[in-house]
Amino acid sequence: MENDIYAKARADLQAWRERQPTNFFTENRQLGRLTRRFLGEDGWARHRAHLERFGAVAAGPLDAAAIENNRAGNEPKLDRWSPIGERLEAIAHHPSFQACGRHIYEDGEVIAAYGGDAPHARALALFFLSSHAGEAGHNCPVACTAGIVKALAAEGSEELKARYMPGLLTNRFEERLDGAQFLTEIQGGSDVGANGTRAEPDGEALGTTRWRIHGEKWFCSNADADLILMTARWGGPGTSGLGLFLVPRLLEDGSVNAFTIRRLKEKLGTRSMASGEIDFHGAVAYAVGPVERGFKTVITQVIHTSRLYNTMATGANAQRAYFVAKAYAETREAFGKVIGDFPLVAEMIASLRGVTGAITAAGMTLARGLDRLEAGGLDEAEHAWLRVATNLAKMRSSQHSHRAVLTAIETLGGNGAIETFSVLPRLLRDNVVCENWEGTHNTLVAQTLRDFGRLRLHEGFLAVLRRDLLTGVASVDAATAPARAAVEHVADALHAVLAEKDPDVATFMLRPHAERLADAMFASAWAQDVAREEDAARRDAEAEALGWFVDQHVAATPPTRDGSQAARAARVAALPA
Ligand SMILES: Cc1cc2nc3c(=O)[nH]c(=O)nc-3n(C[C@H](O)[C@H](O)[C@H](O)COP(=O)(O)OP(=O)(O)OC[C@H]3O[C@@H](n4cnc5c(N)ncnc54)[C@H](O)[C@@H]3O)c2cc1C
Repeated sequence: MENDIYAKARADLQAWRERQPTNFFTENRQLGRLTRRFLGEDGWARHRAHLERFGAVAAGPLDAAAIENNRAGNEPKLDRWSPIGERLEAIAHHPSFQACGRHIYEDGEVIAAYGGDAPHARALALFFLSSHAGEAGHNCPVACTAGIVKALAAEGSEELKARYMPGLLTNRFEERLDGAQFLTEIQGGSDVGANGTRAEPDGEALGTTRWRIHGEKWFCSNADADLILMTARWGGPGTSGLGLFLVPRLLEDGSVNAFTIRRLKEKLGTRSMASGEIDFHGAVAYAVGPVERGFKTVITQVIHTSRLYNTMATGANAQRAYFVAKAYAETREAFGKVIGDFPLVAEMIASLRGVTGAITAAGMTLARGLDRLEAGGLDEAEHAWLRVATNLAKMRSSQHSHRAVLTAIETLGGNGAIETFSVLPRLLRDNVVCENWEGTHNTLVAQTLRDFGRLRLHEGFLAVLRRDLLTGVASVDAATAPARAAVEHVADALHAVLAEKDPDVATFMLRPHAERLADAMFASAWAQDVAREEDAARRDAEAEALGWFVDQHVAATPPTRDGSQAARAARVAALPA
């Protein structure tokens, strides 16, 4: 009898495991719908089979390799010297790191996608898929490499491009050149204008100016990257004196450039990625574009790209957490019924469903925005929207994903806290890091204030937001009605924020409004997406999930908690991805 009880519980857990997606692409209708829309029919015809294949790789062999790579003891290790005493400044990885890399770069073509059509939409859809495995050891380098590709394409000399682009864009893992981005110094990361690392001129090379870098960088992820993109001071104080430089790991004679890795950080999360502290002792560097434009280039081409990658990585954390928790709620029993039948559990799954729908739609819409920007297809208001929405999405997606992973852990009860039981503990740790790098929440709010105050970007941003919150589809527009009201409320409140003379106080005033605007923006992107759903029943069901998200995060007052609200939670929880 006792054995029967245990066997039944174990069979339920086995059923939970069997319910996990075997393909992160084909089992996510929304992602397919968005990708098809943003690749266009021709692009969809060309790339669909690949997306489907990679969705299976991400859910299968990549996920298994990521588990191995993140196992305690398999973390990267600093390997400074060769056996015969040559300086290496290298990182030794567990073989599962290489296995992950082959899946991501070769099966996934996550960087090679930049050599093709609709590059951002395709690359970020592929990155979203790979990020379901939570393989931070590669996610961060992929985001940095994408930033280097963009910066070189926009500002690099022809010789720099000719030398490095083929290696950056190859889909051969072993032959690839991967990237890192070093801005942060010990005296401060948010205040990049306080950078002290110096660049000294050293003639001309590769169609640009050559420089020598002296100083130290405090947070250096992907510490042995082939190509480092970094800020350093060539001129006076503040950000205007910062240039943007490409520092190759190896010099022409094959020796290691003049930098030393002091140590690797012992981190809360993203442990499979080596983050170090690095000293530069006159390292050879090449200017990417005119040094006077360095800071502008790093923000527009590099940091904004990384922020979008951060949105997609945290969105994938939430999506994975949703898959894990939904299947658990459908299979785990307590008090004689599956736990998903309790309205409180249904509410947890519904909130996960809302957040994943919102971030996926916003992330893919931003990726499409970058493609349109580079094709010259954005008007002024849309350009303002893209800049503001990228910053707000980075802040809010990581906050939502943090809560989503915690909610999934709560759904699994004690099992949720166990490292060997599911991916959730690792996703939670990694998500905390994603909240901080590429701009803390406060920094993003301060940036948004400057964009609103100095550049008046709120005007274009609000115009696009109002436009996109209306779709002409009744069920969708009903769902977003509280968001439209919230936007008008924030638009009114912005007058007082922008009239405040003290920028620190104004930032303080803006923060809750910025979070609300971000959520309204998520809702608008999802509204535009779900309005295009061809299956009317699915469209209305997804509009209900959208309405759930809006009521939870944007509406002025939450709906009354009664039986009909509990039934609504159950319907939203039951809706597949
Ligand atoms: C694991 C990991 C890897 C990293 N890898 C890299 C990397 O590869 N390259 C790189 O360049 N950086 C990297 N970073 C650094 C990261 O980008 C910085 O930590 C981040 O930008 C914040 O800078 P800081 O740590 O110096 O915090 P600080 O700037 O000191 O901020 C501390 C606190 O003060 C707040 N604050 C600062 N300014 C304001 C303001 N104006 N208004 C209100 N509040 C404010 C911040 O929001 C934060 O809460 C990494 C960080 C981590 C954790």
